Amino acid sequence: MEEILAKILGTDGYRVARTALPLKLLAVRSGLGWYGRNNICYVPGMGSFHQLVACYSDLPCQGDDWREAQMMESCKNCHACIHHCPTGAITSDRFLLRAERCIVFHNERSGDIPFPAWIDPSWHNCPEGCLHCQRVCPQDRDFLQWIEGKEEFSQEETALLLEGVPADQLPGATVKKLERLDLIEDLDILPRNLSVFFKK
Ligand code: SF4
Ligand code: SF4
Repeated sequence: MEEILAKILGTDGYRVARTALPLKLLAVRSGLGWYGRNNICYVPGMGSFHQLVACYSDLPCQGDDWREAQMMESCKNCHACIHHCPTGAITSDRFLLRAERCIVFHNERSGDIPFPAWIDPSWHNCPEGCLHCQRVCPQDRDFLQWIEGKEEFSQEETALLLEGVPADQLPGATVKKLERLDLIEDLDILPRNLSVFFKK
């Protein structure tokens, strides 16, 4: 993204650089999206199935849509994500997610931190992240078909990932698959995260 923007703006002499800011908050406050009750950012025409990137530039900005953070209108009469979140991370008495109850918080932590005992193994549904609240969200209904099975791992490859074999000792084809899935930087968490699927 940064390269594309640099090409477009660079022709007029402007500079652009990627920045690490709280992306959901930035998107919601700048008018690009809205928060869902599940604290995920929803963008019109994409639901919650997008990847946010932030860049800054010295291009003069004509418009200013900066606003208070807002929740989607459709959340006011909907509680689907509350009912389907297995951990109780989403509650109706407060807007902020109980992050310490969210599966994502636990399966993206350093791989040497075990899952707490209160997380039932059957609640896990992704090698990284969690899709329970997005799968049931009416605002995501039209975009669920975007979820695709991109890669398949053989039994041998899965065994290597469960063992935590480092990238430089994995077969090249396995590394390519992990790169396409954007998981190559997360090899340390895969042994813990994958092992739960074999304990169910
Ligand atoms: S499931 Fe309902 S309440 Fe939850 S984010 Fe989607 S629209 Fe909002
Ligand atoms: S990502 Fe999973 S655990 Fe977190 S709030 Fe959504 S359903 Fe609950």
